[in-house]
Amino acid sequence: MNHLSSETFRENARAALADKHLRGALKNATSLFGERRKAAASSLPNWEDLRSQARATKDEVLSHLDKYLEEFVRMAESRGAKIHWARDAAEANAIICGLAAECKARVIVKSKSMTTEETHLNTALEAAGMQVVETDLGEYIIQLADEPPSHIIAPAIHKTRGQVAELFTAELGIPPTDDIGQLTRTARATLRDRFAAADVGISGVNFAIAETGTIVIVENEGNIRLTTSLPRMHIAVMGIEKVIPRFADLDVFLKLLPRSGTGQRLTTYQSFITGTKRHAHDEGPEELHILLLDNGRSRMLAHPVTRQSLACIRCGACLNACPVYQQVGGHAYGSVYPGPIGAVITPQLMGIAKAAQLPYASSLCGACREVCPVKIDIPRLLLHLRGEISQRKGSPAERLAFKLWARVMMSPALYKMSAVAGRVLQRVVPISRAWTSGRDLRPVERRSFHELWSDE
Ligand code: SF4
Repeated sequence: MNHLSSETFRENARAALADKHLRGALKNATSLFGERRKAAASSLPNWEDLRSQARATKDEVLSHLDKYLEEFVRMAESRGAKIHWARDAAEANAIICGLAAECKARVIVKSKSMTTEETHLNTALEAAGMQVVETDLGEYIIQLADEPPSHIIAPAIHKTRGQVAELFTAELGIPPTDDIGQLTRTARATLRDRFAAADVGISGVNFAIAETGTIVIVENEGNIRLTTSLPRMHIAVMGIEKVIPRFADLDVFLKLLPRSGTGQRLTTYQSFITGTKRHAHDEGPEELHILLLDNGRSRMLAHPVTRQSLACIRCGACLNACPVYQQVGGHAYGSVYPGPIGAVITPQLMGIAKAAQLPYASSLCGACREVCPVKIDIPRLLLHLRGEISQRKGSPAERLAFKLWARVMMSPALYKMSAVAGRVLQRVVPISRAWTSGRDLRPVERRSFHELWSDE
């Protein structure tokens, strides 16, 4: 229903700005998340140290990713997990569809996973004749609405209570009610039935510990616990960047992630899964498959500037803090990864040509950098991507103009001369309307700052 393209971000954003319900829902949710994050962060006196520590761990991993992945695979396999590698989305979906078919799966339950959203796994499984049921309440709502998620951790953030009530009446046939308790009980009863019928459970992964081969998944609803333990087969899908070296490193991330995401000190559930069950009477699936997805991540890793994008722990804090996201929401980005980090990751995953407007969807105010628990310098990454775009798309005249501009800005003498020339030329040289349609071009002042200063 609402599957917009990254290529039309400007049009999408204009439409979103005209939607009062959307803007109301976004304002309430993002300010609430923002306030809670602030309070939760201030409850830890060493918050800044934790951020630095987390970033140092991520940098260590990204400098030796091959080593830590090999260690993780060795340890996970030694505990009975089966590992699969996928170069891209098509390969990942083919592997998962194959595993589900081997298991003769008819019903598959899924917990929230941005990585499987990235590969459009549900479409592939449904095309293979399987019923896929999202079990996170927010994901379930947008699945009923046939919409993509609009936030990394709160997929239905754009929907008001009234809209969810109408959806449940239309799709689940319940009498009209906007009582949240009643709506939640309805979803719970429907989902319980699907859990009982499911042959395969598919989850994402928050962290994968190399030292022990453990995967860690955090949540609030208990649906991940059921997804990963009730069906016969559990398939965990993770980007290759999710690995961390040691169990001891987890402490820092478990302090940062919930506080940054929802403002919680701890999520309600943390699942630590190390291999398959040891004894027949133990709880848990008979088979555990872990799929490691590249899908453009090696390319990001290879570049010294874009590498830091892989440090992201998908907390969503930068979305809540971003003045652009707060106004237009997630769908306008036309990508499963919206907001500031989405504007960085999407062009790298999809290719710059398909998402060239996204790096400009930012005022570069730096709010995203301020809140990021792993200190990703998102404005710098956006500028880097803008530079790449202008190298490809800018006209020769524009490229020459920027080269000259850079030369002038680096030389005080040339700068003074250009200011004098600018005062004269601005009266006779026409300014491109393409430049001034979306930004102001202030006239050059009659007297320079230096001249005004020397008068004082
Ligand atoms: S870039 Fe930082 S703030 Fe944004 S989702 Fe990733 S970890 Fe969170």
